[in-house]
Amino acid sequence: MSFESRWNLRQVESGILEGEALGEIIRRGALAIQEEHGLATDGLCGPATLEAIQPEPKVIPGRLEVPRNNRADIARVYGTFDYEESEKQRGAIIIDRDWVRENIVKVVFHTGKHTWCHKGIAEELKTTFEKACKASGYTPKSAWSWVARHQRWDPNRPLSLHSWGVCIDFDPKLNGVGPVEQSKLYQHPEFVEVFEDNGFSWGGRWSKYPDAMHFQRTK
Ligand SMILES: [Zn+2]
Repeated sequence: MSFESRWNLRQVESGILEGEALGEIIRRGALAIQEEHGLATDGLCGPATLEAIQPEPKVIPGRLEVPRNNRADIARVYGTFDYEESEKQRGAIIIDRDWVRENIVKVVFHTGKHTWCHKGIAEELKTTFEKACKASGYTPKSAWSWVARHQRWDPNRPLSLHSWGVCIDFDPKLNGVGPVEQSKLYQHPEFVEVFEDNGFSWGGRWSKYPDAMHFQRTK
């Protein structure tokens, strides 16, 4: 076995190569990849070679557009449903069962915890959450999306976006009432940044009623 092959194999064993990159190295060989990308042709899998075969970022087919923050646009993108006011819980609503069955799905996070949310955002909610935790070092213990209710549990207010499962609250106790600056999320701007980069607005930026625990998928 050549030195190059042994060296590349060691990379494989050490776990540096994985998944699709490993497949490419085996299929074409490091040398061919280096030639194709105009890299120094030593046949060794270094960072530049790996970089050259990273798969294109996946465009999720049919990724839902991010609506503007008004009722018409939210309904256009996320749908509409019939509902009744709950008699048991003030401010809660009972949404048409068929709509819930059709649109609300369970999402399991990398932490093992789960919530329910709109099917159109489930996959990106999962990946965005994981990215945000890793980027910031803050992993919220509680993450909750779908709750069928009016804003602030007040039946006189419009429906909360939580009814559609297109927003999410993190650690209400640590990101609750009080100055936004005291919230965990404010203290972990990288977490907020990842969500904002992925189509979510942060309630902590609202001037009227800052809602530090809350991210919603609207512009
Ligand atoms: Zn919320």
